[in-house]
Amino acid sequence: MITTVLRLYFHENLNAFDLILAKVLPRLSGFMFVTNNGRRKISPYFLEAIVIIDKITGRLNVARWRESPNCDERPTGMEPELIVIHNISLPPGEFGSGWIEALFFNRLDPEAHPYFAKIHQLRVSAHLLIHRDGTLTQFVPFHQRAWHAGESCYSGRQRCNDFSIGIELEGTDDQSYEPVQYHKLAGVIEALLLAYPGLCRNAIVGHEHIAPGRKTDPGAAFDWSLLRSVLGV
Ligand SMILES: [Zn+2]
Repeated sequence: MITTVLRLYFHENLNAFDLILAKVLPRLSGFMFVTNNGRRKISPYFLEAIVIIDKITGRLNVARWRESPNCDERPTGMEPELIVIHNISLPPGEFGSGWIEALFFNRLDPEAHPYFAKIHQLRVSAHLLIHRDGTLTQFVPFHQRAWHAGESCYSGRQRCNDFSIGIELEGTDDQSYEPVQYHKLAGVIEALLLAYPGLCRNAIVGHEHIAPGRKTDPGAAFDWSLLRSVLGV
């Protein structure tokens, strides 16, 4: 059975393409078709993309796929129950370099920047990276365990990697994130909520919240109230 989850976001003025999709897609067997019309108030960030998570592969249809070796199985019976938001930029404060991907592939060149010499031996990953221009790269299937949180605790539970999904925003703690990054993040979260019933709108935290004193991301620059309003929390 196909377990693909499909969600369409309608904006106020539906165009012809939206209407065709709305008519045709519910008839396709194997898809769960959900719209945000009627069920909840419509987000101010109207998403026109169709965001699909294939639950068999654990992949997002709208992301580039780059499989990182830095992942493993979740403990038996453990499902995603928490979304953790991070930021990353390599070198720190620089965007668009491609070094983040190198880090997640254990190919960071320690000679290329003094900061890289300190971190090149880390074995880390995240499920997804949202670049400054809104493009998405996925490194780990969502049902697998990415290595993003490190020593961490959420509501008394240790080892958040076991039960969380890690999403990196390309950014820094004190530089405003791009509107398109919130837009894409909201779409990804909505798709995750549909695909993994253990997740919920109220279980979305920053790395700084589950590793206080050790981590500071996504930092003061991240607008939690904007994300909450987009998600209707
Ligand atoms: Zn982090």
